[in-house]
Amino acid sequence: LHPMRALFKIPRNPPPTLHQPELWSHDFNDFISRCLIKDFELRPNVLDLLQHVFIKQTVGREKILQKQLIELTDLNHFSHFNPVSVIKAIMERQTEAQTNIVTEQLQSRYSRDQIYTYVGDILIAVNPFRKMEIYTPQHTKMYIGAKRTANPPHIFAVADIAYQSVVSYNTDQCVVISGESGAGKTESAHLLVQQLTVLGKANNRTLQEKILLVNSLVEAFGNACTAINDNSSRFGKYLEMKFTCGGTVVGAKICEYLLEKSRVIHQAVGERNFHIFYYVYAGLADRKKLAHYKLSDSKTPKYLCNEHIKLGPDIVSNAFYKEQFDAVEQCFKVIGFTLEELGSVYSTLAAILNSGDIEFSAVASEHQTDKSNITNMSALENVASLLRIRSDELQEALTSHCVVARGETIVRPNTVEKAVEVRDAMGKALYGRLFSWIVNRINVLLRPDSQEAEKGLNIGILDIFGFENFKKNSFEQLCINIANEQIQFYFNQHIFAWEQDEYLNEEVDARMIEYEDNRPLLDLFLQKPMGMLSLLDEESRFPQATDQTLVEKFEDNLKTKSFWRPKRVDLGFGIHHYAGKVIYNAAGFLSKNRETLPADIILLLRSSENELIRKLVTHPLTKTGKEATLLLSGFCGVFSPDVWCQPETTNMKTQTVASYFRYSLMDLLSKMVAGQPHFVRCIKPNNDRQANKFDREKVLVQLRYTGVLETAKIRRQGYSHRILFANFIKRYYLLAFNAHEEPPVTPETCAAIMEKARLENWAMGKTKVFLKYYHVEHLNLMVQLTT
Ligand code: ADP
Ligand code: MG
Repeated sequence: LHPMRALFKIPRNPPPTLHQPELWSHDFNDFISRCLIKDFELRPNVLDLLQHVFIKQTVGREKILQKQLIELTDLNHFSHFNPVSVIKAIMERQTEAQTNIVTEQLQSRYSRDQIYTYVGDILIAVNPFRKMEIYTPQHTKMYIGAKRTANPPHIFAVADIAYQSVVSYNTDQCVVISGESGAGKTESAHLLVQQLTVLGKANNRTLQEKILLVNSLVEAFGNACTAINDNSSRFGKYLEMKFTCGGTVVGAKICEYLLEKSRVIHQAVGERNFHIFYYVYAGLADRKKLAHYKLSDSKTPKYLCNEHIKLGPDIVSNAFYKEQFDAVEQCFKVIGFTLEELGSVYSTLAAILNSGDIEFSAVASEHQTDKSNITNMSALENVASLLRIRSDELQEALTSHCVVARGETIVRPNTVEKAVEVRDAMGKALYGRLFSWIVNRINVLLRPDSQEAEKGLNIGILDIFGFENFKKNSFEQLCINIANEQIQFYFNQHIFAWEQDEYLNEEVDARMIEYEDNRPLLDLFLQKPMGMLSLLDEESRFPQATDQTLVEKFEDNLKTKSFWRPKRVDLGFGIHHYAGKVIYNAAGFLSKNRETLPADIILLLRSSENELIRKLVTHPLTKTGKEATLLLSGFCGVFSPDVWCQPETTNMKTQTVASYFRYSLMDLLSKMVAGQPHFVRCIKPNNDRQANKFDREKVLVQLRYTGVLETAKIRRQGYSHRILFANFIKRYYLLAFNAHEEPPVTPETCAAIMEKARLENWAMGKTKVFLKYYHVEHLNLMVQLTT
C-alpha cells in the first residue's frame, strides 16, 4: 500500500474529475488555501485533490511544489519534500486554525453568558464561576423532549438525549464528563442527576429526594479544599441511575474510585483534609459533644494542622461547617442510615483524628536500640475507647510486630519510624474503608427491588478528577493522570477506532480520520511485566528497596521518549502525557504503594465491640482476589490489550495500591463500554476562579489536548446513531406504515421509512441503519406528530 493511501485510506477509484491533470494545477493555490481557511470541515473533495496531487502529479515538480507550499503555509519545518509530512503539517495547521476559531466562538458566547456550546454532538461547558439563572424549573421543562436545535445548548439537553435513548432504544447510556480540576465536572454531574430525576418521574418523592442527596453525602467524605478548587473531588465517581424500560427511575448505584487516602494524614500547603472532619468537629462542638468523642476544643488534631488554621475560629465555631454538618446528618437520615450507624461513623472519624496525635519516642536499651515507646498515653486511650478495643493491645500492635520464622512466632519491636508508619496506615485504612462502607450502604438503600433491577436500564454518569500537573507531583498525581490517559484512550477508541471498525464491518463508506493514539503511553504504564506499575510493584516487594532504587529501575527499563530523568531534580522523572509534560517526584512512592495494614492491627480491630469497626475490617468491601481476576479476564480484549490486565499470579495478600488501581481502572472501563456514550467536556476559562474572565491561551491548551476538534470532525462526518434494523422499525414504522401492519425487518423497510420522512445522507449497513444526530431528532419529532 502506498504510504499516502495507508494514511488516508483513499477509495480505490477517485472521483473522475481528479483524473484530469489540468484541474489540479489550476486549483492548486485554491485548494491549499481552502485547506487553511476558516471552514470548519476539511472538505472531502479538497482532501482528495490534495492527495491526488501528491501521489500522482508531483514527479519532476517537487521543488516547485515545495516552494509554493512553504509560501502558502509558512511551514518551514520540513527540510525535504515528503508528501506525508507535508500533508500532516497542513492538517495540523488547519486543526490549529480551527481550534482558534472554536476558541473565539467560545469566548464570544461566554461574554454573552452562553456557557454551553455544541461542537458536533459534544457539549462544551465553560465554567461561569458564578450563579447562572439557567437551571430554573422553567429551564427544566423547556428541555424535556425538545429538539436539540429548539433551545440553546444546555447540560439538560444531554440528560434528555440520554434519557430518550433509554426509552426509545432500551440501551444503557453513559455520560462521560471530563476536564481539569475546577472545570465544573462535579457541578455538571449534579445538574444531570437533577434533570434525570425529573425526567425519570420517580413514583415516590422519597426516591427522587434520596438520589439527589447521594452526591452531597458522598462529597462530604470524598471532597476537600485544594489549592485549585474549594470543593475538589478527591475520588472518581460513577453514578448509575436505574430506569425501567418505560423510563421510570427505580434506583441508583454509586461506584467510587481511587480515593486519595493520603490526604487523611497529610495535606499540602494551603490545602485541607476531607470536608467531613471539619463538619463533624464543628457540628459536635455545637451540640456540646466534643468531649464525648474525645475531641479537644483547644488543641488542633495533628491531622488537621496546617499553616494558619486556628482550631477555634476556623473549625470549632465555623458557622458554615455547622450548617454542613446538619445537612450531612439530614442526608444520612433521609437515605436511611440508623442513628446507631451515625454514632459509629462519628466515632470512627474521631478515632482517626485522635490516632494522628499518638506520638512515639525512641527507647535506647543495650540490645535493642530501635524500640519505640508511646509518649502520650491519653491519645492512645482515646483511640482505644472510640474504637472499642483494648488500649494495651493497641499499644502492642503499634510498637511491635509479629514475624513467623520456622513455625515460631516472634515479636519484634518497631522503630519510631515504623510505628508512625503503622499509625498512619491505620488512619488511612479506616477512612478508606469507612468511605467504601458508606457507599455500599447507600447502594443497598437505593437498590431497586430485584424484579425491577433485572429488566432495568442504566444511565451512568462519570465524574472523575481531571489531569493534574502541580509544582510537586507525587504518586497520587501519577495514578490520576494514568486514569485520565485511560479515559482518553477509551474516548479515542470509541470515537475513532470502533466507529471506523463498525463502518468497515457494516460496509458503510465513511471517511477515516487520523488521531493521536496514546496507546504507547498506556503500554508504558500498564504493560506487564515491564510497565511502570509492574516495576513499582516489583520494587515494593524488596524490603531493601528505596525510592532512589525505584527511579533507577524506571530509568533502566523504560526506554521511550515519553519517559526521561530531568537533571537537577532528585528522585525526579518526567512523563510526556497526552495532555502535556509532567515532572514527578518519586519520594514516598514505595511506602504509598505498599500501604499494608499489619495483620496485628487488623486482628485487633476485628476484636472491637463496635459492629461497624468489625465490619470495616472483616468483609472485603471492595472486590479483590478471585473476583477481580475473573472480572478482568472476562473483558480482556474488549477494549484493552491482554498485556495490561493478565490475572495476578501473586498472592492477593501482597496486593499493592498499584495493582488495586489497575483493577479499578479496568472495572470502570468495563462499565463505560457497556453503554452508549455522551461526552461533556468542561473547560476552565481562567486559573483565578473569576467570573467573566476568559484566558484564551488557557482555553486553547485545553481544547488542543482533549482532541475536541478531531472529535467534532468525525462526529459530524460520521454517523452518531447506529440502530439495529429491528429497533429502528419498531420505533418508526408508523411514519410509513399503518399501525396494524407488521413490515418485515429488512433494509428495504428501513429505507422506505427514511424516504417517507424525506431524509438524506443516511447510510445502510448490513444490520444497522446509520444516522446523523439531526436525523434522529427529525424522526422523533415526526413520530410525536404522528402519534
Ligand atoms: P471539578 O469537579 O471539575 O473539579 P467543580 O464542579 O467542583 O469542578 O466546579 C468548581 C467550581 O466552579 C464550583 O464550586 C462552582 O463554584 C463553579 N462552577 C462550576 N460549574 C458551574 C456552573 N454550571 N454554574 C455555576 N458555577 C459553576
Ligand atoms: Mg469534582
